[in-house]
Amino acid sequence: MPRSRAAAAAPPEVAFSNLDKVFFPASGFTKGELIRHYLDVAPWLLPHLRGRPVTLIRFPDGVRGESFYEKNVPKHAPPWIATHSVAHRRRAGGTRYILIDDAPTLAWCANLAAIELHPFLHRASEPGRPTHLVFDLDPGEGADLRTCAEVGFLVKKILDGLGLESFAKVSGSKGLQLYVPLNTAIAYAATRAFAKGVAEHLEQAHPDLVVSQMAKSLRRGRVLIDWSQNHEAKTTVGVYSVRGKRERPYVSMPVRWPELKGLRDPASLHFEPAEALRRLRKQGDLFEPLLTLEQRLPAAFASLGPEAAPAPVPSFGAYEAKRDFTRTREPPPAPAPKRKAARRSQTEAARFVIQKHDATRLHYDLRLEMGGALKSWAVPKGLPTELGVKHAAIEVEDHPLDYLTFEGVIPKGEYGGGTVMVWDIGTYELLGGSHGAGNLKLRLAGKKLRGEWHLFKIRGDEAKPTWLVAKSGVAAKPLTAFQQTRSVLTRRTLAGIARTA
Ligand code: MN
Repeated sequence: MPRSRAAAAAPPEVAFSNLDKVFFPASGFTKGELIRHYLDVAPWLLPHLRGRPVTLIRFPDGVRGESFYEKNVPKHAPPWIATHSVAHRRRAGGTRYILIDDAPTLAWCANLAAIELHPFLHRASEPGRPTHLVFDLDPGEGADLRTCAEVGFLVKKILDGLGLESFAKVSGSKGLQLYVPLNTAIAYAATRAFAKGVAEHLEQAHPDLVVSQMAKSLRRGRVLIDWSQNHEAKTTVGVYSVRGKRERPYVSMPVRWPELKGLRDPASLHFEPAEALRRLRKQGDLFEPLLTLEQRLPAAFASLGPEAAPAPVPSFGAYEAKRDFTRTREPPPAPAPKRKAARRSQTEAARFVIQKHDATRLHYDLRLEMGGALKSWAVPKGLPTELGVKHAAIEVEDHPLDYLTFEGVIPKGEYGGGTVMVWDIGTYELLGGSHGAGNLKLRLAGKKLRGEWHLFKIRGDEAKPTWLVAKSGVAAKPLTAFQQTRSVLTRRTLAGIARTA
């Protein structure tokens, strides 16, 4: 991704034009005042724009004239304007976006009548990785900022429950936007699936208040939770940007949650540039956490890689091919529609199981819930509890979710024939990495195993990829003989399970 910046040492000079041109007739707000606003807020605004491609919305004749989106840097741009090229699948040449990294570039854009600045949710250096997640709350006819605030608190409650801090800003038009800082490894497929899940959940729980689909006709009296902004090709109006949607130059400003609680007059949260500047000087940048706060989505979402957009319905071809379900009592995969439904409600923590399996050789099977399936490894020696010890883990075919609680005997002669015990079960958190990257940092919260483990692939070019699993963080407590030999579900031993079957 080439990024050009002129090596010229001379400080850039911006030639302004038509400073007296009125952009907002209702208040007489001029182009000169627009440039003034952007230079005034630059110390707070620039950190939010730096390194991000941006789309400009230009209004050459003010808000009553025509406006257009400008993605490509104009041909007449001076050489000191930094840009970032993005290739396109369909169009040759791609798009050269402007990067607003300094005050002269900001002033130059304002002089182009770029009233609105819409940055991407990622930086140019890492185009697949959003640094935050956005819920754009857009009121339909008959709803307003108060309705948005009400819905905002419903979204916040879900986020709070997941331990995720969120920050609100008025859009400067009619709506409200909730931002969730991430600043950790994540893909758009994950942020989009998460935002969509929250929107659809709230639509079901509050059909009179919330819609999750774009159709305007559905929106009357309700608020659209627009989750679709979480996409590498989409931009959202930036913080401290002026909007060109209303008769007055309202600024998209952060607001505190208490200001939204029991909001009586939406107009009390309309901020024109002078008021916006007063607030900034008094309160500082309420969006500062967007730049620094590191947060992670629940593991089930965090593991969705870029290839998973939209997340595929898991398939269990290899699993089915190896088994005769008239003979084994292992669970057959659920029909595809059920798998699809199961995939959707993954706001809870992801689950894991470790089965003790007395097959040809005694071994343990580690299974992690990911994307509607159980990613599975055969671990001959089980997970180590001491630091500095690595055990081999051979990845095997995905197992269906129902396998989480499978305990019993697989008939002799069948694949994996022998006794299976649910040795440990619980939930896990993905602390880092991804399955696709061959690197998983996990925190297990099981009944026997608790703490951090690190799983990483060392050979992947064959049917059964080899991984190693090591204890990380601190050593785990040694297990008692009872724990080592008994089922967490039924307290039976392998022999006991074999007998009952
Ligand atoms: Mn096994």
